[in-house]
Parts: sequence; structure tokens; C-alpha cells
Amino acid sequence: MTSDAALAQLLDSLAAAQERERLAAAQLVEVRRLQACGEADDEHDPEGVPASFEWSKAAALLEAAQAERAAIEAAVRRARLGAYGICARCGRPIDPRRLAARPAATLCIDCAQRA
Ligand SMILES: [Zn+2]
Repeated sequence: MTSDAALAQLLDSLAAAQERERLAAAQLVEVRRLQACGEADDEHDPEGVPASFEWSKAAALLEAAQAERAAIEAAVRRARLGAYGICARCGRPIDPRRLAARPAATLCIDCAQRA
């Protein structure tokens, strides 16, 4: 894969990650709105899912989406420096199949297994 192709693929992944982050943030706002108007009041609905559970689930989703977006941004920076796909520990090229599955990977499979 050429570095231009890698960069284009990373930018696609970045757009997808940003979209997931936007959706997770919107979901968190919705949970907060329901809590604010009492619709998700777990005290009065023993059968319902507790609002606090919905809240922590949405917050965890947003956190994961933000971390993923940040990792892909870092990969975009490495690609622009021409260092994308190079293991940060041993300096050898990372297997393209690994990069296809995990575009933000910074370690080759050997180093990742030793980490
Ligand atoms: Zn390595």
C-alpha cells in the first residue's frame, strides 16, 4: 500500500470515528435530557433500566469513541510524517493485514504480543 493510499484510508477511518463520536455525544445528551425531565426516573419504575446505567453506558461509549478518534488522528499525523505502518518499538514495518484491521496500530504483532 502506498503512503497516499494509507493516508486516504486513515482519513476515511477518521471520518467514521468522528461520526461515532458525534452519535455517542448526541446519545449522552438525550440520556441527560430524559433524566432532567424525569422520564428515565428509575426510582419510580422498578421494571425499567436504571437511568444511571443508561448514563454510564452512554458515557463509556463516548469515551471509547473519543479515544479511537484520537488514536486515528495520531496515525494520520504519523502518515503525514511518512512514519505510518512502522512499529514504534522495533522499527519494522507493521503487517498490512494488521493495519487493515486496526488502522491506528502503533506496534507490530510481535511487539504488541510482548507488550
Ligand atoms: Zn515491533
